[in-house]
Amino acid sequence: MQDSETIDQIDDTPIARAAQAAVQAIGRAGEGLPRPAATRVIVVANQKGGVGKTTSTVNMAAALAMHGLRVLVVDLDPQGNASTALGIDHHAEVPSIYDVLVEGKPLADVVQPVVDVEGLFCVPATIDLAGAEIELVSLVARESRLQRAIAAYEQPLDYILIDCPPSLGLLTVNALVAGLEVLIPIQCEYYALEGLGQLLRNVELVRAHLNPTLHVSTILLTMYDARTRLAAQVAEEVRTHFQQEVLHTAIPRSVRISEAPSYGQTVLTYDPGSTGALSYLEAARELAMRAVPAGGGGSLVGQQRDGEPGRSAPMAQHGTTEGNR
Ligand code: ADP
Ligand code: MG
Repeated sequence: MQDSETIDQIDDTPIARAAQAAVQAIGRAGEGLPRPAATRVIVVANQKGGVGKTTSTVNMAAALAMHGLRVLVVDLDPQGNASTALGIDHHAEVPSIYDVLVEGKPLADVVQPVVDVEGLFCVPATIDLAGAEIELVSLVARESRLQRAIAAYEQPLDYILIDCPPSLGLLTVNALVAGLEVLIPIQCEYYALEGLGQLLRNVELVRAHLNPTLHVSTILLTMYDARTRLAAQVAEEVRTHFQQEVLHTAIPRSVRISEAPSYGQTVLTYDPGSTGALSYLEAARELAMRAVPAGGGGSLVGQQRDGEPGRSAPMAQHGTTEGNR
């Protein structure tokens, strides 16, 4: 009697509740998520640096792969941070996305499996890529070289996540031409929305001229600090502007998330029970379960990218968000 009371009390501590939530989430991780009928190519973009693009790319990708999906991360940032976080060697001699974009090498020749996570693959970026922005200018079909490489890649994939550099140059344009969806991570801090209008206008330009199926499907709030009013205000403002696109799950500021890359790991393998890992699992679940809104809101499963008219109006209205805070 007394024992069970004690156990009840222990069960009711915050730590016990967190542990229970972790066990549930990890349990669910094995359950699998819907497999899209066609590969979802998601461009993770925001020309601001340090907003959580790379962190979100690798952790969302790992979470999707842990649900049994086949996922490829394309590192398109010369810094190679996504490659580092996935434990992929990316010193100058490693065959990389540079060889694909500039030399026309097939994607299959540069894809590497991620050791810790089954079903997860990575195309690394090396420092060579820093020159690609300029080298691409004089090449044929300079905007669509990544798109062509992906189209020619024959391995079955459920998701391709492209981690963009913090700029809107030719590398990011290549990603936008190759993609079907754009995922914008937004850091919950002052100036969060500044520059967003420019990104949205670029998406519109690429949609109008180069890739009619492109649309902003997802906005993810990152580094959310529940203790500050500012974070709550920014989150509120973003949710008001982008009602459809913002995921319910916001990623909290978490030391575990920021530590993981220095061990060549995602937070999902580094500390699977941490709130950071759980929030990325939940965000990935939301992403996978969401109906693809393009073409009138059919369900995700069964959607094909061909023939989708894409969606412009709701996001286009937000093209003036810049500076509006
Ligand atoms: P970007 O790719 O947009 O430049 P990163 O994903 O590299 O941004 O994140 C910038 C920095 O913030 C990195 O040091 C990263 O470890 C850290 N960081 C990202 N997300 C979180 C988070 N939720 N909590 C704590 N630190 C984070
Ligand atoms: Mg980055």
